[in-house]
Amino acid sequence: MNEIYTFALLTTLASTLRPTYGTSCPRDRCRVVRNTVFDLMVPLYQKANLKFPPQCPFNPDHDIYGEQENLKQMDGPSHWMCNICGKAFYTEKTLDQHFDNRHPEQIKKGPTSVCLADYCDIFRCDIIMGIKKPDYWSMVMCKHEEMKNKHTKCKESLKKCVPPDLSSIQNREFYNKLTDAICSKLDCDKYWDTPPEEGGIGLFLYILAGFILVLALIIYYFVAYSHFYSDEPIFAQHVVEDHRAPVYPPGSQEIRNRFQQTRIKQHNSSRPIMNSNKTGDQAHLRQSMG
Ligand SMILES: [Zn+2]
Repeated sequence: MNEIYTFALLTTLASTLRPTYGTSCPRDRCRVVRNTVFDLMVPLYQKANLKFPPQCPFNPDHDIYGEQENLKQMDGPSHWMCNICGKAFYTEKTLDQHFDNRHPEQIKKGPTSVCLADYCDIFRCDIIMGIKKPDYWSMVMCKHEEMKNKHTKCKESLKKCVPPDLSSIQNREFYNKLTDAICSKLDCDKYWDTPPEEGGIGLFLYILAGFILVLALIIYYFVAYSHFYSDEPIFAQHVVEDHRAPVYPPGSQEIRNRFQQTRIKQHNSSRPIMNSNKTGDQAHLRQSMG
């Protein structure tokens, strides 16, 4: 029994003493720097047919998580696979935890290893990750001196990234391209610029598709309800014209009869007058002819 307790104690102790790289060097912040390096720096090297010099801190070979990143396989937004043991995970974060727990030997160690998160101040990780929002007071209270120090640190770091075998002119040109790409945002006017939203159109299409789906469901249930639970179909109401003679209420018929009799009397009383006039005219005509 004591052996079991001893084994459990040693296991707990071993897990406690295991190096927790995920907390000492945050992977999410490293990812921001790594993505910026691959988006802005790597194309410059590829275009000039150059390689990262070994002394450059952003050389992918020095990235402590670089090897594990290469062993990730994403088969969809919710399917991440470890290419070392083949296990699959729903999120990248759980795969990162798996790397920490199961494959710490793939994490680069030694004096040349670089935790990219250490350069987050010049790569603006907090802005890109949305931790710091570009609110009015932050922009107004921006410290120019602090920004200048970051800019200087950025330029110093990039000096190590220019390949040594270039001519002085090529060296200066390439160095200017690197600093323009990485350090230009370290200014109070540009520090709060955020990268364009990825998948903005995709989000809009998702919202539109959701709206159409809800509308279709409402129409479907409306039609189903009218079909199964209502006697009268809602979309097929016909207007039936009533050609029958109007039915008047009792008493109104008497009024109508009196009205018609009055009109007949008026008509008859007007006819003799017309006839008498006509007869008088005829008599007058006969007298004049006689
Ligand atoms: Zn694995």
